[in-house]
Amino acid sequence: MTDRYAVIGHPISHSKSPQIHTAFAQATGQSLTYTAIEAPLDGFAATVEAFRREGGRGVNVTLPFKLQARELATHPSEAARLAGAANALKFEGDRILGENFDGIGLVNDLQVNLGRSLKGRRVLLLGAGGATRGALLPIAQQGPALLAVANRSADKAHALRTDFAAHAALQSGGYADLAGEAFDVVINATSAGLAGEALPLPAGLFAPGALAYDMVYGKGLTPFLRQAREAGVQTLADGVGMLVEQAAEAFLWWRGVRPSTKQVIAALTVPLA
Ligand code: NDP
Repeated sequence: MTDRYAVIGHPISHSKSPQIHTAFAQATGQSLTYTAIEAPLDGFAATVEAFRREGGRGVNVTLPFKLQARELATHPSEAARLAGAANALKFEGDRILGENFDGIGLVNDLQVNLGRSLKGRRVLLLGAGGATRGALLPIAQQGPALLAVANRSADKAHALRTDFAAHAALQSGGYADLAGEAFDVVINATSAGLAGEALPLPAGLFAPGALAYDMVYGKGLTPFLRQAREAGVQTLADGVGMLVEQAAEAFLWWRGVRPSTKQVIAALTVPLA
């Protein structure tokens, strides 16, 4: 029987994951199917269980179920435990292994695809939700000179500093606390851009030659990227590379083969214009 995989979310029709994994399977000669499943908001665990009973080998998990996926995993990885969220599950007998590849996907995109080493750089994450939680450890492991988190509710950023104290020395605060600071890499991990809102970024936030990265993808020039451009930033990127890179990590985890990501990223890239 052909091995079956799926992405589970709500809603799910927008998901690019079936297209990405189908392209990976073709390129690597792996025999598998990959579909999109919309779980009812109160039915994530039952949907996973049904898929597993029918012979499913693993799933990707997207909004709003990543926290539940972490709870469902009988064997969460350190990345999933620290993030408090899983974006990939693998079924092995009675065991449900849980992983979180969002952070490594981001780091691979920044360092490999965009050629920006994080080592010795000043890195800022805007937002203190699940995406930032997943990104902190993989970024900290690259040895930045400074790793800072700023959030609308500063308390949530401070809570992250406490939670990650054993793994990374974080600077935390609200947007006003960023006054007078400059960063080499500024990553928008808020969902503000989805509703078209701009962030209260102080002047001088972007160091000369800085990179501005918005985790949101496929929306062209988001309000954050427009703010960065207006501040003189020349290197702008959205999160399409992160999406494809986390998918490649999941594919490797499930299949033991790492697919090339370059062509898939190119096929999904929407010009920032
Ligand atoms: P969460 O809902 O967990 O967190 C949202 C964050 O955005 C919070 O810190 C919240 O601040 C902040 N926020 C929301 N609205 C505003 C606003 N108007 N002004 C300032 N801050 C705001 O979301 P996630 O962390 O899961 O996801 C964040 C973004 O990253 C999403 O857009 C998601 O699509 C994207 N993403 C992309 C991935 C990729 O592969 N490219 C992977 C994962 C996520 P507060 O705490 O104050 O409410």
